[in-house]
Amino acid sequence: SAGLYIVATPIGNLADITMRAVDVLARCDGIACEDTRVTGKLLKHLGVAKPLWRYNDHSEARDRARLVDRMRTEAVVLVSDAGTPLISDPGFRLVRDARDAGVAITSLPGACALIAGLTLSGLPNDRFLFAGFLPVKDKARHDALADVAKVEATLIFYETGPRLVKSLAAIEAILPGREVSVARELTKLFEECRTGTPDELAAHYTAHPPKGEIVLLIAPPVEAVFDTVDADALLVDALTTMKA
Ligand code: SAM
Repeated sequence: SAGLYIVATPIGNLADITMRAVDVLARCDGIACEDTRVTGKLLKHLGVAKPLWRYNDHSEARDRARLVDRMRTEAVVLVSDAGTPLISDPGFRLVRDARDAGVAITSLPGACALIAGLTLSGLPNDRFLFAGFLPVKDKARHDALADVAKVEATLIFYETGPRLVKSLAAIEAILPGREVSVARELTKLFEECRTGTPDELAAHYTAHPPKGEIVLLIAPPVEAVFDTVDADALLVDALTTMKA
């Protein structure tokens, strides 16, 4: 039926698409996508042909208005090049406009690189902060890391190969002693998750410049790392001390 369908697509392995996503893609009236070539390839793989409308961060209010108008009578899908739309990808304004227009909206969950990286890393996952891409410029990158230094959660960033070593150096400078994980090429043939100190990882990736897409994860400040059992023990300790 008519409305907006936010559909997650694979982040590498084309089998990582849900049955519901395939069904909605096959039955929709058209697909708003970042890059018609990228989405065209996925559709070809699925044996589906649909009108594709380019929608990205450069799209203007009138492009959104046109899409929202369609959603009143047609089933419009939103996808990004890979993974979950809106997560470091376009779509936020489109969803907000659709919401404000009273259009029916639903989201079909699926692959998302930050979640795959978090679950693979072995870092604490009870609390995490996803902060998108680190800024490119040195000062801004340092400031962004300093801003989150005290956050008691695993920190997650999206990263690219050419910038990884510089980011690791910045982490060593601003968040020294933290365990860091680099999750690369998730769901693909050369998937890798490597954990160490920022210095160790910087040395490795200087010797082996990383290709492909990366999720960078930083463990919480040391005092924030405890599992539930330890938390219970701490509580018992505290209560005993209070009684004494
Ligand atoms: N919307 C996507 C999602 O749900 O993960 C993210 C889009 S963002 C523009 C692209 C970034 O996501 C990459 O630079 C990388 O940091 C991360 N990424 C995407 N696919 C990945 C993969 N297969 N392995 C590791 N990181 C990936």
